Amino acid sequence: MNVPKIIIAIDGYASTGKSSFAKMIAAKYGFLYLDSGAIYRAVTLFALEKGFISDNGEIDHNSLKEALGELKVTFRREASTQKSETYIGERSVEKEIRQLEVSNYVSPIAVIPFVRDFVDNLLHKFGEDGAIVMDGRDIGTVVFPNAQLKIFMTADAEIRARRREKELLAKGEDVKFEDILKNVLERDYIDSHRETAPLKKADDAILLDNSYMTMEQQMEWFDAIIRERFGYES
Ligand code: C5P
Repeated sequence: MNVPKIIIAIDGYASTGKSSFAKMIAAKYGFLYLDSGAIYRAVTLFALEKGFISDNGEIDHNSLKEALGELKVTFRREASTQKSETYIGERSVEKEIRQLEVSNYVSPIAVIPFVRDFVDNLLHKFGEDGAIVMDGRDIGTVVFPNAQLKIFMTADAEIRARRREKELLAKGEDVKFEDILKNVLERDYIDSHRETAPLKKADDAILLDNSYMTMEQQMEWFDAIIRERFGYES
């Protein structure tokens, strides 16, 4: 099958399973998958490690802006698992960027306009050749407003927090459900209310509420859309 040369933008609330969904689509149809949230998370980890975020959560904008030029974020496929991992320079940071400490600071970092420009530039570079599926918060509204297919994902907040809890516990993290729910709700609030590129459904995005859907059902939903709209068969 020829890989469809289209851009698919998947946006939505925190922990709605956007990246799992996007990865499944990429694997099934041969798209390149790009995780924009991972880049915001890498910037956040970088800022934390450089000491640009104080203990009370204040961000040193000037130092971060100056240092961003030296930050090199890439995605590489890990040979043994074949999974894509996020790198800062030569170091895989895949595990660190998913920890709750990074989750707690990522939305305030993602509010900063020069950080958004930094990430958008990278995404445009990665996405030049099309045939990509990208997930985030503003992909269909700001980064790729001409994407041929836009999906906006939502789900009940408690269900989302339960899924995230399961994921983090499986990774051996010591987490509490209440902290995860709080983080999910806080991120949604900041992401939806920020001035630059707020999280919102693009007018031409298709809504997907997956509160009570399995991954298989979501894929069937997607297969039907891509068949009807673009004539592609998996
Ligand atoms: O998708 P993920 O939850 O990993 O994203 C982490 C955070 O990065 C989000 O909560 C949001 O604050 C920010 N983000 C964003 N725009 C995107 C992708 C992520 O602001 N396109």
